[in-house]
Amino acid sequence: MDKQTPKPLQEAVHTLAQNGTTDFKSFLQFEEKTVIGNGSDLSDLKMWKGRAKRKIISQTMNLSLVTAVENKGEPERKQGYWNAYHCQERLTNHNGRIHSKYCKNRFCPICSSIRKAKIINQYLPVLKTWEAPYFVTLTVRSVPAKNLKKWIGGFKEAFTKILGRLKKRHQRGKGVRPVGIQSLECNFNPGKRTYNPHFHLIVQSEAVAEAIIKEWLLLWTPKHAIKKCQDKQSVRNMEECLIEVIKYSTKIFTDPDVMKKGKVPQKVYAAALDNIFQALEPHRIFDRFGFNLPKVEKQCNIQTVPDTQCEDFIYAVEVYDWISEKTGERLTGYAPTAELHWLLSDNMDTDLE
Ligand SMILES: [Zn+2]
Repeated sequence: MDKQTPKPLQEAVHTLAQNGTTDFKSFLQFEEKTVIGNGSDLSDLKMWKGRAKRKIISQTMNLSLVTAVENKGEPERKQGYWNAYHCQERLTNHNGRIHSKYCKNRFCPICSSIRKAKIINQYLPVLKTWEAPYFVTLTVRSVPAKNLKKWIGGFKEAFTKILGRLKKRHQRGKGVRPVGIQSLECNFNPGKRTYNPHFHLIVQSEAVAEAIIKEWLLLWTPKHAIKKCQDKQSVRNMEECLIEVIKYSTKIFTDPDVMKKGKVPQKVYAAALDNIFQALEPHRIFDRFGFNLPKVEKQCNIQTVPDTQCEDFIYAVEVYDWISEKTGERLTGYAPTAELHWLLSDNMDTDLE
């Protein structure tokens, strides 16, 4: 609920009160709603079914994350997980467009997927202009949970240092200008109980890829980073490559197929995920270096509309769908597959790491 009464209503009430209008009482029963943004098309059923699927995954995952932090005795991170759990619970339909509030958390699959689409729209046109781009993976040896925070901090610092060195060298006319995008990711190895932070990059040329890998190995020394674990590959399909680079933080939640690599379904380790989110919390996960994006004018479209023109849908966990308050009808008709059901009910591990 908005804390402030929309301005037009305040003004109208003031005018009516001054005029001593007789139907003032009935006017006060008239309500308005504030709808923000352009909304999403109500008739795009495919998109809405996808969102319903993310919602059920999100709720299951975030409940597991809440249990995980409670088990750890670190409940201070609980609120964020609850916010993601409640994301998109109420949707408002106005003129065939659905408006709602987003929690904007990294661990919210709905918000992550929207962020991902935004990055693709912003970056793909620029990245496609690069003539011979390269995809790079940078890693260090895996680390135990207790060192993860420190290592991820060091990881980011190391990369910034390398970019600084390369930039300076380029300014002196002795090397390539580092241009690219970077995405930080961290995997958990349930067998070894270790974590593997790594960078995915798309850089403008093979020379940039080589320079970065060379500096990375020099900086970490063979004790912490080995040559064969750093990788560079020519980018053939930029769109696919960009999706690969930015899929972090959505892949665990939104794509159940990722949970079952090979034939054995993977478990989702909530306590480990919480460790990863905690370690990544102070850092930007996705960034660019050496180039700017074309400026886009930000428009914040806020409308105040009569309540009678709106239809609210409330999420009902029992049916995995949003239900119209007016008609009682479902919004999407989505039904999770038996496989997803099973994955979500039997594969959440909230034990301590
Ligand atoms: Zn959200």
